[in-house]
Amino acid sequence: MSGGDGYLSSHLWDTSDLYRNAVTELLEAANVMKLDPNIAERLRVPKRAMIVSVPIRLDDGHIKTFEGYRVQHNMTLGPGKGGIRFHPEVNLSEVAGLAMLMTFKCSLVGLPLGGAKGGIRVDPSQLSRQEAQALMRRYTTEINMIIGPDKDIPAPDVGTDSRHMAWMMDTFSQEKGFAVPGVVTGKPIEIGGSLGRAESTGRGVVYTIQYAVQFLKDNGKSAPKIDGGTVAVHGFGKVGAVAAEEIYHLGAKVVAVSDASGGIYNKNGLNIPDVMKWVEKNRVVAGYKEAEPISNDELLALPVDFLIPAAIDGVITMKNVGRVKAKIIAEGANGPITADAMKDLEGRGAFIIPDVLCNAGGVIVSYFEWVQGIQNFFWSETEVNNKLAEVMSNAFKRVTDNYLKYKCGMKTAALITGVDRLNKAMLLRGLFP
Ligand code: GLU
Repeated sequence: MSGGDGYLSSHLWDTSDLYRNAVTELLEAANVMKLDPNIAERLRVPKRAMIVSVPIRLDDGHIKTFEGYRVQHNMTLGPGKGGIRFHPEVNLSEVAGLAMLMTFKCSLVGLPLGGAKGGIRVDPSQLSRQEAQALMRRYTTEINMIIGPDKDIPAPDVGTDSRHMAWMMDTFSQEKGFAVPGVVTGKPIEIGGSLGRAESTGRGVVYTIQYAVQFLKDNGKSAPKIDGGTVAVHGFGKVGAVAAEEIYHLGAKVVAVSDASGGIYNKNGLNIPDVMKWVEKNRVVAGYKEAEPISNDELLALPVDFLIPAAIDGVITMKNVGRVKAKIIAEGANGPITADAMKDLEGRGAFIIPDVLCNAGGVIVSYFEWVQGIQNFFWSETEVNNKLAEVMSNAFKRVTDNYLKYKCGMKTAALITGVDRLNKAMLLRGLFP
């Protein structure tokens, strides 16, 4: 058989926009950095995937079977790492694309970890606490042969949080017969979680915005000020709410935030701690008094200095990109801007902080949690935050060095940074057998 047919599309993985987008971005980076085509050929598909059926008894007595996935994209640098998503649209291809992004994210920030992702196709808002627990426990049992502290370490993602990690850790530990806290990260503090993990992704997003402003200034470009600058945040969840709060405390005017219920807008800036209190009580931002309602689409089109899409993938596409006016866009979510929309934005002078860099704070502190657990020695929150800032600013520097060197987009520069380290490791390890 001869090679050299170019990159054939794969009927198995290729079915979601997210996956196709991730491959497009990978191949663009491979092209710019002149990557060995044999390495690109190995990176464009995941190493391994598991599809499981997850039957649970619902509160009404019926049994319902959900579909679950765990995909390990690449484990050259270490155990697989990546969250578990509960979302009604989850599918194998999307999880595979997200696992690929995790590989590049872990590599570019310098972690000794590979890339993985998991998910269950379910609407978490329809589950009682008991049903969610049953789902997480049965899913853990179904995938237990491919996860573990040295194999693959799940964490929270869209629709899951520290409670789900506690159930996962407990189920895995029950099966082993002893506590195995290292099987997951993002656990509650009481069972081996790290201080600062819950806030780490949102906090990291704001660190990268600070580095971006400094970078633009250092390179003679105009950059908005954070203090007094305007911000819109799409997605007021684990990432968006923390990012909004952090940037609010730096003096920015957060004029709009939104969630699935819609958005709220106040041209003079929202009082974010107050909005957080409102959401704690009412679950959604809608109805908050000191603001006007705004749709998610209108929020994305606001003429703000900083836009933080922190909800889900595919929110800025060729359909609405023409209306986006923000100067700096920080991808708090994974894949919120499609590859073609990103080109459009960068062509019009916007500065993008790509997901694999922007939201890496979560997996970085996951790594710290894993390390603290192995040593049974836990750090203060200040230590965690200082180490997080150090890892993120070094990663930011590596990415912007490539951005200047290759004169490419920031996403491409970030992928080049991740792929370059991985490429060296893959060449050293060689191809088995
Ligand atoms: N789900 C987060 C992400 O997409 C965190 C993953 C982790 O901590 O392993 O990066």
